[in-house]
Amino acid sequence: MSIERTLSILKPDATRRNITGKIISKFEENGLRIVASKRIRMTKAQAEAFYAVHKERPFYASLVESMTSGPVVVQVLEGQDAVALNRRIMGATNPAAADAGTIRAEFAESIEANSVHGSDSLENAAVEIAFFFSQTEIVG
Ligand code: ADP
Ligand code: MG
Repeated sequence: MSIERTLSILKPDATRRNITGKIISKFEENGLRIVASKRIRMTKAQAEAFYAVHKERPFYASLVESMTSGPVVVQVLEGQDAVALNRRIMGATNPAAADAGTIRAEFAESIEANSVHGSDSLENAAVEIAFFFSQTEIVG
């Protein structure tokens, strides 16, 4: 276990329903610190690039459409074992399979509009953080 940083995105379904504060509370209550945060509207090109790993998947076009349908809040979360801890706080991709008390169990609308993105490895976290933030925007 070590102090890590991971990328979180509060998706358009969360900003639309005005529940960003409720979701951010889950991070803080579980020991993660928000060391960078901004509200942006992702462009189609940005969403396509961010989710390029999924470009052969049948849901790719719909996912890009959904991620650009409204503002998102991108954040860097810091804490002990932050990558895995955030994935536990988020819950499973499909909210029907998410553990009780997780963000997706409580807030997700569907498997696609599932309220949050979280990096899935320390290596991807570094790439995803650099995708949205410069070093001077991250204040630990
Ligand atoms: P996670 O966000 O849990 O890491 P993935 O990386 O597998 O999940 O997928 C990225 C995003 O694509 C998901 O969060 C969800 O918004 C969407 N997605 C994944 N699987 C499906 C699916 N079967 N149908 C529609 N959208 C999906
Ligand atoms: Mg993923």
